[in-house]
Amino acid sequence: MNCQKTLLEMAESYLRDAVAPNATILDQDPDALKTALQGLGSHHLLGLKLPEPRGTVDPRTAWEIQEAIARYSGALGFLQTQHQSAGSAISRSPNQALKAEYLPQLATGNRLLGIGFSHLRRQGPPLVKALPINGGFLLSGTVPWVTGFRLFSEVVLGAELPDRRAVYGIIPLVNCQEDGGKITWNAPMFLAAMQSTQTVSGVLEQWFLPEERVLFMQPAGWIHESDRKNVLNNSALILGCARAGLDIIAAIAQKKPLPFISAAYHTLNRELMTCRQNIQHLMFNQSREELDIWYSQALPLRVQAIDLAYRVAQGAITVCSGASNLAESQAGRVYREALVFGVSGQTSAVMEATLAQLMRSP
Ligand SMILES: Cc1cc2nc3c(=O)[nH]c(=O)nc-3n(C[C@H](O)[C@H](O)[C@H](O)COP(=O)(O)OP(=O)(O)OC[C@H]3O[C@@H](n4cnc5c(N)ncnc54)[C@H](O)[C@@H]3O)c2cc1C
Repeated sequence: MNCQKTLLEMAESYLRDAVAPNATILDQDPDALKTALQGLGSHHLLGLKLPEPRGTVDPRTAWEIQEAIARYSGALGFLQTQHQSAGSAISRSPNQALKAEYLPQLATGNRLLGIGFSHLRRQGPPLVKALPINGGFLLSGTVPWVTGFRLFSEVVLGAELPDRRAVYGIIPLVNCQEDGGKITWNAPMFLAAMQSTQTVSGVLEQWFLPEERVLFMQPAGWIHESDRKNVLNNSALILGCARAGLDIIAAIAQKKPLPFISAAYHTLNRELMTCRQNIQHLMFNQSREELDIWYSQALPLRVQAIDLAYRVAQGAITVCSGASNLAESQAGRVYREALVFGVSGQTSAVMEATLAQLMRSP
């Protein structure tokens, strides 16, 4: 327990000393972001979702570390969570050879991977198809989102089989051609937020995924079930973003001693503490065995957290006034980060509940 506390404190001190002062540059410059990511690795903070002995901490501490990362730099929070999710997928694989190859290298960031499977949530014809052939699968189609181009070297990709099951495997996150197959990653998108995270789309043409690079197969619709179980997984990032907005409001309350700024801070802070406590209780103290019941409590909390991050970010730009519009404004950055965290891993249920929350009368 003490050891875990120490890890959280050590993460906090790295983040306060090396990350927070550079938040603006980390939002814009991929090289600076990569250095900060390597800093997390050198503190063994990139294996937060790995089981022992490769993993570093219990789930609550892992959640709090991710919350702290997003508080001090949204771009770093967003980038590292892709790698942590890839690590979690690898750790759940029955492919022992791949586990032996990757698991020892993930926590330190000696091997860095992104993910590309949000497209499996989409309705209609699959964007990325996997055709079973002798010894593996041929992958074809368009991958709409992968974060971490030139920051990660590989990606855990999901593709749909003709029978609607999905195969997850590891492919390169570099442009390449091999045995008649081709992977083309497009130039990084121009984003409204977190430009430094180098988010790309890509095209796979008859790319051969050998069985040795396959992590697992999942039944049709599995991602939707998994989304329900994991609906609170990105709450750490959303609440870290809300905390970043509150930090700005607190700092401005010192500079502009207007009583209504402090009052707004205290009200929003109380709301954040309650939401955080409820999320932690549900995530770490409540069983998910009765998934419908658990999910009916968890979905509203995810949406409360999103709503809170949006409102706190609006509060931050409000108290920073015209300066919020400056390109290097911290409030402007946190506002844009809320945009990303509010839709990341979005399902149609989250979209619906977010809109319902927005339409709620005051
Ligand atoms: C900056 C950035 C980086 C990202 N990086 C990654 C990454 O590294 N890896 C990754 O996997 N993803 C990544 N994403 C994707 C992100 O998780 C998705 O934005 C999110 O899952 C929502 O999906 P979507 O944007 O594709 O929207 P949509 O396609 O609109 O999907 C949102 C939801 O609405 C539903 N829906 C949409 N259209 C319909 C319809 N016609 N009928 C019924 N239901 C519908 C979908 O099924 C889905 O549940 C990134 C996104 C951003 C903005």
